[in-house]
Amino acid sequence: MELLRVEGITEKYQAENGEITALDNISFTVEEGEFLSIVGPSGCGKSTLLSIISGLVRPTAGRVLVKDEEVRDISPHIGYMLQRDNLLDWRTVYGNVMLGLELRGCKTPQNVERAENLLKTYGLYEFKDKYPSQMSGGMRQRVALIRTLAVNPDLLLLDEAFSALDYQTRLHVTEDVYQILKGEGITTLMVTHDIPEGISMGD
Ligand code: ADP
Repeated sequence: MELLRVEGITEKYQAENGEITALDNISFTVEEGEFLSIVGPSGCGKSTLLSIISGLVRPTAGRVLVKDEEVRDISPHIGYMLQRDNLLDWRTVYGNVMLGLELRGCKTPQNVERAENLLKTYGLYEFKDKYPSQMSGGMRQRVALIRTLAVNPDLLLLDEAFSALDYQTRLHVTEDVYQILKGEGITTLMVTHDIPEGISMGD
């Protein structure tokens, strides 16, 4: 079943030295459970595309549909993970993972249990009282992923989510993340400039 439909997306930015066309009539679909990688060099419009799909930015033309519903604003169906893990240093691992549920006003006992189960399944529960500064880059990225998944998104967007990690950690973390996403059956759209990463993670 189709989960995401991107239809004729065009995005133009007004810059000092004229207009920049960051995206020109982009269309594609992503099926439920699919892992789609989009690979391209810096500046080709990858982040712009994800910002539009997530509803953070309105496109100049075209539309985005998730489950046949047009995305017009920040969508509760979509989880978005960026290059930096953006963990809050003054909150514990547990506090960080619960953040999305708090912000969305859906910290129900069921959702808290789901988030705790994710922490347990992926080996982070014993670190729940630690602070981000006490964890390695790879672990922090896993915490960030679990925080994103805690709100139960239908679609996960990954924007160069591993590029801040050193090469060896990145290999481990990408494998880890791949297993988590496949295990949870999360539909994922990843953009990256790294061709091997795009190939090894994408369907
Ligand atoms: P990527 O993620 O592939 O590196 P971006 O989506 O960040 O690419 O950028 C695509 C193009 O749009 C680049 O040429 C960039 O300079 C330009 N751009 C991105 N954001 C803005 C903005 N807010 N204002 C003007 N130009 C922008």
